[in-house]
Amino acid sequence: MGNISILRKLLLSALLLILVALGSAAIFLTRYTAARELQHAEDTMAAQARILSPALAATEPQSLEAWTNRAGIESRARVTIIGRDGVVLADSQHDPSTMDNHAGRPEVRQALARTTGTAVRHSATLDVDLCYFAVLADLRTLTGPRPSGSGAFPGQSGAILRLAVPLRQIDVEVAAVRWLILRSSLVAAAFALVVAFFFSRAFGRRIRRIQTFAQQLVNEEYTGSLASESDDELGSVARSLRGMAEQFRRMLSASAEESARRKALLAGMVEGVLAVDHDLRITFCNGSFARAVNAREPLPERIPVVEVVRDPELLDLLRGVIATGEPARRRLTLAAAEGRVFDVQGAPVGQRPAAGSIAVLHDVTEVERLERVRKDFVANISHELRTPLAAIRGYAETLLDGASEDPANSRKFLEIICRNTVRLGDMASDLLALSELETEWKPPPAENVSVREVAGSALGAVEREAVARHVNVCAGVIEDVHVMGQRFRLEHALVNLLHNAIRFNHSGGEVRLEAALRGDKVRIEIGDTGIGIPFQDLPRVFERFYCVDKARSRETGGTGLGLSIVKHITEKMGGTVSVESRLGKGSIFTLEFPAVSQ
Ligand code: ADP
Repeated sequence: MGNISILRKLLLSALLLILVALGSAAIFLTRYTAARELQHAEDTMAAQARILSPALAATEPQSLEAWTNRAGIESRARVTIIGRDGVVLADSQHDPSTMDNHAGRPEVRQALARTTGTAVRHSATLDVDLCYFAVLADLRTLTGPRPSGSGAFPGQSGAILRLAVPLRQIDVEVAAVRWLILRSSLVAAAFALVVAFFFSRAFGRRIRRIQTFAQQLVNEEYTGSLASESDDELGSVARSLRGMAEQFRRMLSASAEESARRKALLAGMVEGVLAVDHDLRITFCNGSFARAVNAREPLPERIPVVEVVRDPELLDLLRGVIATGEPARRRLTLAAAEGRVFDVQGAPVGQRPAAGSIAVLHDVTEVERLERVRKDFVANISHELRTPLAAIRGYAETLLDGASEDPANSRKFLEIICRNTVRLGDMASDLLALSELETEWKPPPAENVSVREVAGSALGAVEREAVARHVNVCAGVIEDVHVMGQRFRLEHALVNLLHNAIRFNHSGGEVRLEAALRGDKVRIEIGDTGIGIPFQDLPRVFERFYCVDKARSRETGGTGLGLSIVKHITEKMGGTVSVESRLGKGSIFTLEFPAVSQ
C-alpha cells in the first residue's frame, strides 16, 4: 500500500465511498420498496375485503364455493372463507375438505381478536410465499340470515374472509427496483469515478508540482518557481513552500556570498591557514600554506597533516590545542618549508577537547633575518668604533702623561688622533647615508640625470687622492646617457667606487670610468688594475662592514660601508650592481640603470 500513489489512493477511496453509499442506498431502498409493496398489497387486500364483505354476507351458503372462486378471479387473489372455529369453508384455489384447520394461523387469530389480521408466510398448500389479509365477515348460515348488524364488518358472528396474494409479485417489484438501483448506481459510479479521476489527477499534478519544487530546492542552480495555486489547503502549502524557497534562496545566496568572501580572504592572506579535525586530518588549508610547505594543490580531502608536514613541533602544537581546547602560540622552523621560520598561532574549534584546530602560520623568516642583521650590525658597529676610539684615547692619554713634552712624538700622536677622528667622522657620515637610504619612506623626487656630468664631478672629487697615491684615473668613453634618480646619490656611488679603485691599487696603477648605452640600459663601468678581490669574497663585498683585508681597508681610510651604500643607491634608482675581479689583476664594478631619453 505504501507505494500506491495518492492518485490511486484517492480513486480507491472514492470507489469505496461510492460502493458503500450505493450499497447502503440499495439495501435501504430494497427494504423500503419491499415494505411499501407489502403495505400496498395489504391495503389492496383490505380494500378488496371491504368490497367483498357485503357480497359475502349476501351469498347463499350453497353458492359460497362459486362465489369464492369468482371473488378470487376478480380480486386476483386467493380467497378463503374460514369459520370462526378455524374450519375452511371455501377456498378459491383449493379444496376446503383437504385443508387443515386454520384456527392457529396468525392472521386468523389476529382477525378474531382485532377484526383484521395480516401475515406473510410460506403456504404449504400452494408452496409459495403469501401475504395474507384476514377480516371478520358476515356469513349467511343455512338456518337463515343472522339478524343484520350495521357497518362493513358486522362483528362477532359469521366467519373470516381471508385474501392472499403471492409474494412473487412483491419480489418482482423489489427486483425491478433493485435493477433500477443497480443501473443508476452503475451510472452514478461511472460518473463519480470519472469526476474522482479528473479531480485526483488534477490533485496529483498539483502535489507532484509541489514535490518537484521541494526536491529541486536543495539544488543550488535551480531557479524555477512554483505557479500560483488555488486557495485551498494545498494552495496554502504551496504558498508556504514558495515563501520558504524564497527565504532559502536568500539564505543560500547570502551563505554563498559569505563563503566566497571567506575564500577570497583566506586565499588572499599572506599567512598560511591550516584547519585540522580531531584526528589531525586537514579539513582546509589556503594557498599560502600549501605553497609554504611545498604541497601540491589542491590537497586530497581529509589527508592526514603528517603526510604534508612532518615537523613534530607543529603536530605537537595542534595536538595540544585539541586536547586542552586552549589557544597556543609557538615559533617554529619548518623543515617542510625549507627551514623557514613561522610564528604559529593555534586556536581550538569547539569546546575541550576540541573538535579540531585552526593554525595561522605567519612567516617571520625575514623578521628573524632582520633581527639577526640588526644584532650583527650593532655588534659590528661597536667593534668598528672601538678601534679608533681606543687609539684616540690611548694617544691622548699618552700625551697627557707627558709625551706632549716631546715635540716629534706629540705631533705624530696628534696626527694619529686626527686620522682616527676623521675615520670616525667618515664612519658616522657613511652610517648616516646608509640609514637614510634604508629608512627613507619617500625618496627625494627623481630627476633626469646626465651620467657624463656626474662622472665628471666624481672624477674631480677623487683627483687629489689619485695624485697622492700615484694612480692614473682617466675617463674612457663616456656617452651622453641619462638615468632617472638623484644626482647627488649617483655621484656618491661613483665616488665610492672610484675611491675603492684608487685605494686598492698599486702605485702607478690605472682606473678607468666608462659609460655607454647597452640596449635599453645605461651601463657604467669602473675598472682598475688593482689588487683584485679573491673569488670567494666576491659575493660578500656588498655587505656592511665587510672587508677582504681589514688592515689595508683601515689603513687606507675605509669604513667597510662604501660598497653597501653603492648597492643601496643603485637599487633605489632601479638599477643593479655587479663585480668581476681577478686577484692581482684588477676589478671591474658595473652599474646598470634603465636608460631614459634626454
Ligand atoms: P672599505 O671601506 O673597506 O673600502 P667597501 O664596502 O667600500 O669598504 O669595500 C669592501 C671591501 O671590498 C674592501 O674592504 C675591499 O677589501 C674590497 N674592495 C672594494 N673595492 C675594491 C677594489 N676596487 N679592488 C679590490 N678590492 C676592493
